[in-house]
Amino acid sequence: MPFAEIVGHERQLRSLRLSLENGRLHHAYLFFGPEGVGKRTIAEALAKSLHCQERRFDFCDRCPNCVSIRDRNHPDVHMVEPQEGKKEVSIRQIRELTERIFLRSFSGRTKIALIDPAELMNYHAQNALLKTLEEPPEKSTLVLITKNSGVLLPTLLSRCLRISFGLLPIAEASLFLAQQKRLPSAQSQLLAALTMGSIGQALGLSEGLVEAERKKSIERYCALPESDFRSALAFAEELASDKEKCSRVLQWIEAWNRDLLALQVTEANGLIRNFDLMDSLRQHAGLGRAEETLAVLSELRRVVDALQKNYNRRMVLENFFISLACKNHSEGRKVARPRG
Ligand SMILES: [Zn+2]
Repeated sequence: MPFAEIVGHERQLRSLRLSLENGRLHHAYLFFGPEGVGKRTIAEALAKSLHCQERRFDFCDRCPNCVSIRDRNHPDVHMVEPQEGKKEVSIRQIRELTERIFLRSFSGRTKIALIDPAELMNYHAQNALLKTLEEPPEKSTLVLITKNSGVLLPTLLSRCLRISFGLLPIAEASLFLAQQKRLPSAQSQLLAALTMGSIGQALGLSEGLVEAERKKSIERYCALPESDFRSALAFAEELASDKEKCSRVLQWIEAWNRDLLALQVTEANGLIRNFDLMDSLRQHAGLGRAEETLAVLSELRRVVDALQKNYNRRMVLENFFISLACKNHSEGRKVARPRG
């Protein structure tokens, strides 16, 4: 997969390739942007293009160097991520990395290190890395990859050239999924829309999750106003016991509410993610006002933030679901369930 086959991010790729061709790669980059949009793929592509034996300023993905970079055993390419079972990148890992990039390059070409996710470096690890960035070794490039640069030390950030990566246009992501992953067109369109163009996320979603889990979750969420508190608590408890499912279901609920908002405010069907549930969406959009949907969305944001900060998952979810049940009980609204 040479550069030309990477989907999207043309501007970012152009700039990196230009630096590569001019021999002016920066000694440290920060690749930041949402998950699953191709940051790691592009960082690895950069590593391959520095070492490929077949192509100059590009890569073939087949030669021994490209293959060893892919298999993570190329001596001049280092990948740092949390070790198995660990939640952070430790100072020991950063010290090891520093030692290795200060060694002479095995191939005589540029050494490159990727740290992904960089936000998982703890404070001491970041400080240790800072020392390397203050006096970077010659012919070396470091790429910090992150979806959340806010937790990185400002002194660290100020030494990196920042390259931002946005979500891919949904049509591009859908085409990629259809062509490269041989998914049926309808399925790739739905996956691309639901993940807002995050190919990485789309690839992590099985048909079962999209069909059964998403629809069931939205159905339960929409039934909350008519439910008793016990159902709200049961829903919270179920999600609290499974972190990954919890995060997916909150995303399903968020996407559903964004769709409602799009219909309530613009009637623009092109923005709809759950387009296979259009009839139910229209029905629900007509039952509430945009202000209410906005309030749910901002509450949902607070829930997600609280969970990221490791607040008690069960308690946060209970509060959220009960508030929805409680609010609608007091308003005495009738809410229809989604079909489809
Ligand atoms: Zn190659």
